Amino acid sequence: MFFHPTFIILIPGILFGIYAQAKIMGAYKKYRNVPSERGLSGAEAAAMLLRSGGADDVAIEQIGGQLSDHYDPRSKVLRLSSDVYHGRSIAAVGIAAHEAGHALQHANDYLPLVIRNGFAPVASFGSQAWIFLFFIGLFFHLPGLAMAGVIVFTFVVFFQLVTLPVELNASKRAVAMLTESGAIYQEEIGPTKAVLRAAALTYVAGLVMAVLQLVQLLLLTGDD
Ligand SMILES: [Zn+2]
Repeated sequence: MFFHPTFIILIPGILFGIYAQAKIMGAYKKYRNVPSERGLSGAEAAAMLLRSGGADDVAIEQIGGQLSDHYDPRSKVLRLSSDVYHGRSIAAVGIAAHEAGHALQHANDYLPLVIRNGFAPVASFGSQAWIFLFFIGLFFHLPGLAMAGVIVFTFVVFFQLVTLPVELNASKRAVAMLTESGAIYQEEIGPTKAVLRAAALTYVAGLVMAVLQLVQLLLLTGDD
């Protein structure tokens, strides 16, 4: 079963995932070495955008790891990896601004984010439960149970789908706010967008992989 020919369907998704990962690592490596002209650190840029966006109740903390930056809506904390927190590069400022974009989405109840956060526990359940339902259904020839696994897996696909507008909007906000506030200069807009586009590609790759996996599951149930 694990070497089923339908696994071939996943190969383009896997390759796209590897490409997206290489693209973000490449963009990050390139632009973490390009100093931002204004000279703000990632943390300073984020603080500036949070203040001007009216979300100054959001704390900014440092965390370990590389590209581990995220906004935690439950504790209202923006966590920046140390390279981004201290870095005064195009990459650091761009990534910090993107995370600030998420905090501002949260502060403004941006609808796709509300849907995404509300759906997150269901998707998290789905990402663990589908495999049991599906393979037990397939193994014991219970097509209903296998199909229930497929349906539960669609929660994961939907979550990946609704993540996409949230991510694209955070980057769009980041570039607009950085430009308006003068945190980056005109000629830095292109490079900042390049970093954020590369980051967005990993979410596109995640969605493509989930859709391909869904197709594969449907083929496997049809096969039974
Ligand atoms: Zn993001």
